[in-house]
Amino acid sequence: MKNTEQNFETLAVHAGVTPDPTTGAIMTPIFATSTYVQETPGKHKGYDYSRTSNPTRTALESSIAALEGAQHCLALSSGCTGTDIVCHLLNAGDHIVSVDDVYGGTSRLFRTVWARHGIKTTFADLVNQEVQDFVQPETKLIWIETPTNPLLKVIDIERVVNQVRKLNPRPLVVVDNTFASPYFQKPLDLGADIVLHSTTKYLNGHSDVVGGALVFNGDELKAKLHHIQNSVGGVPGAFDAWLVLRGIKTLALRMKRHEENARMLADVLEKHPKVERVLYPGLSSHPQHAIAKKQMKGFGGMITFFLKGNLETSRSFLEKVQLFSLAESLGGVESLIEHPAIMTHASIPVEMRKQLGISDTLIRISVGIENVEDLKRDLLQALG
Ligand code: PLP
Repeated sequence: MKNTEQNFETLAVHAGVTPDPTTGAIMTPIFATSTYVQETPGKHKGYDYSRTSNPTRTALESSIAALEGAQHCLALSSGCTGTDIVCHLLNAGDHIVSVDDVYGGTSRLFRTVWARHGIKTTFADLVNQEVQDFVQPETKLIWIETPTNPLLKVIDIERVVNQVRKLNPRPLVVVDNTFASPYFQKPLDLGADIVLHSTTKYLNGHSDVVGGALVFNGDELKAKLHHIQNSVGGVPGAFDAWLVLRGIKTLALRMKRHEENARMLADVLEKHPKVERVLYPGLSSHPQHAIAKKQMKGFGGMITFFLKGNLETSRSFLEKVQLFSLAESLGGVESLIEHPAIMTHASIPVEMRKQLGISDTLIRISVGIENVEDLKRDLLQALG
């Protein structure tokens, strides 16, 4: 059966994985090797050096490409490596339009690294404003994250793509699909050019890897992006590639459960008297709930909420939770909780954070796959 005829759950288990021809091993071996023996100079079995390619990584790349419905994937050493590799497509003088509420590390890379190399970024509120109003003749890249980190804004991908398609020259549209995962959202089907993943999160799902992926169509783009990756490095080791491949097999089951739990906890939090406001795309109170319903198959496992009070209220709440671990990152089987202003988004200048609404009372949770009643009990006891 062709990949295109298979459903997501089947692809998650099988895509890219074939029994090892030498032993019949059903699971892809961890090819822990830097180099490959050649028969005569230049004659090899498709692999010559592991920065260029590695069979375990190839299996992972085929798997992720199949899940996003794409031709190509490059597996990377981290999500930030993916952002960096895409920026390497640009030249000094080029311009990026990025959604304003991006992951702090993405914003930091644009503002403090690529800006020094002559690439300027405009951060735009792509929920309330049109992308075309920020585009300049030099704009080569539109950077979308949806849902965003940490405010869970939902950007209408098709709306952005339709405006960008009218431009000449046409900038590339990149969507960071880390929060939704391909189980809930397929940006390439909505017209995006490149999908970025921090595979550290849901794709791996077990908080034991840092990794990334770029997913896209077209052999020309593949040649360019692979050339950059091969030139700068940024490859995952074989063991990390294998762990992500292993994690992906249960992605569908995990995402379903993350979402079930998150929907229930979002409801509980929304009704709680000590909670000011809950942001979860699955709530009818979410300002972009209709867009989320249109472009996503489900709303994911991330919830952001504002406590009534001040920094001390947040600190006290975060010290009281027991089952939720106070830690950065997200997307693992275990529930995590964090304070974006002090933790994940500390690298964003204070004024910018204030403008965005990343306040001292903002809390972000990554809802795990534990029993939801246990999670609920923990949040309620910590809220007091
Ligand atoms: N994109 C999003 C939405 C993220 O949350 C993160 C990390 O938290 C990244 C990208 C960067 O990924 P990594 O930490 O794997 O470099």
